[in-house]
Amino acid sequence: MVQNWTIRGAALLDADLGLRRADLRLSGGRIAEIAPVLEPAPRDLDATGLTVAPGFIDIHCHSEFAAFVYPLAESKVLAGVTTDVSGNCGASPFPLVGEFRDRREAEWRAHGLAIDWHSAADYYARAASAPSSVNRALLVGHGALRAAVVGYAGRPATPDERRRMRRLLDEALQAGAFGLSSGLIYPPGCYADAEELIALARPVAEAGGYYASHIRNEGDRLLEAIDEFLEVVRSSGVRGQVSHLKASGPRNWPKAGQAIDRLRRARDEGLDVSADRYPYLASMTDLDSLLLPKWAVEGGREEELARLADPATRRRIVEEIHKAHPEPDYFDRITVAAVHPERSQDAVGKTLRKLADRAGGDPLEAAFDLLRDHQTQVNVTYLSMSEENLRAILAEPYVAIGSDSSLRHLPADAAAERAGLPHPRAYGTAARFLGTYVRDLGLVDWREGIRRLTSLPADIVGLKDRGRLIEGAWADLVVFDRDRIADRATYAHPWAAPDGIHHVFVNGERVVADGRHTGATPGRVLKREGT
Ligand SMILES: [Zn+2]
Repeated sequence: MVQNWTIRGAALLDADLGLRRADLRLSGGRIAEIAPVLEPAPRDLDATGLTVAPGFIDIHCHSEFAAFVYPLAESKVLAGVTTDVSGNCGASPFPLVGEFRDRREAEWRAHGLAIDWHSAADYYARAASAPSSVNRALLVGHGALRAAVVGYAGRPATPDERRRMRRLLDEALQAGAFGLSSGLIYPPGCYADAEELIALARPVAEAGGYYASHIRNEGDRLLEAIDEFLEVVRSSGVRGQVSHLKASGPRNWPKAGQAIDRLRRARDEGLDVSADRYPYLASMTDLDSLLLPKWAVEGGREEELARLADPATRRRIVEEIHKAHPEPDYFDRITVAAVHPERSQDAVGKTLRKLADRAGGDPLEAAFDLLRDHQTQVNVTYLSMSEENLRAILAEPYVAIGSDSSLRHLPADAAAERAGLPHPRAYGTAARFLGTYVRDLGLVDWREGIRRLTSLPADIVGLKDRGRLIEGAWADLVVFDRDRIADRATYAHPWAAPDGIHHVFVNGERVVADGRHTGATPGRVLKREGT
């Protein structure tokens, strides 16, 4: 039975009405009443001096597997996030076959997760019966579709393969997925051309879903990649979202303004495009996807390792990387964040430069050894972005705030060490945006700031009855202190929940009380309307 609550004395803050003084009554998991003054109920929360906002909707997540391992989702709910949107960057947990499946099995076995599903319908069935503190929405990944049909082959899909991808896409949409994601820097998604993406985006548009794309290039070819994204949106009629909008690498920083101009012009033209962004200057990704030329990762993990082991091929790869990245500090900007959890953790927290110095050699030799020793399972942070661009991007009204992170627990043991150093954005994104960029820097006001975390992502994803403080909406709420909210997670110490978030409700149940997790798991797996 969901408890009925009153929350009294607080200032309410949401995108539609801004700041106002009112009390809330929750009943049956929903906001039953909003009134200037309400009588206390048996369950009464005196929130005088605090602010109540809709729970944050983290529009860009990678929690599709972690959700089964860490049902309490501490990094989300302790940060005020009540809905997690996963399956981004082309990597959904369905369909799950072949090497795409093998890779996930190897990664998650170490965390105690047995992957016992293949299809979208099976995944949703498992998710529906799994406890979760946070609500969960999912996208189907183009990379997963392509892996299931074409494998890791670096070639265009045949017409028959496209039809089979389309069938798997339809299955996922019918199972409840909110749209399609792509990860066009990652194999096998990177082998698709725009035609293939358009063909798959069309049925998504017809179903009312959206297309979220980690575009093909965020650095030297950023503008071409934005153009390709806009072509997919224009030709298919789909609503489109650029994932983690950025200009990567110092020499590309001047392009951010042009990327923004292109998105603005597209919106003026009537295209429904948006973006998401986390408030940090480092990205986090796979070391091989970041470093190696596309031809060097083609064909899957075994082929990649064989190329790195062959002296002549290895030399060619080294030459290409040095040519692509002549900047002297490139290897100082890349830090090992996590490696295969069942192997040596020595490299975690060190830059490629530092690893090379220790080994007395070239940073690339150190990087290749790392890929070999960890079966290519190496995650890195890459300090690649500029603060000036970050502020320019966050100021754009169509940019929702998304962490680009998997949900995490709050570890107290050796398991934490094996999990490496997650990006601080996992815990810090929402609080850093509100504390630093809204309150301290005044980049946007509170009403606009809260919109980027609530009703804007709700509208992009197509979440009904969430993201707004209105009677009848689901009671996903965060009760926080506008003067105190601040991130505490850092690159060196990322396992830290933010300050200033006092209480969090998910579907009317309290999951955070006085900054501590209550153990409640009222979260649901959400499905696209009509499924
Ligand atoms: Zn991505």
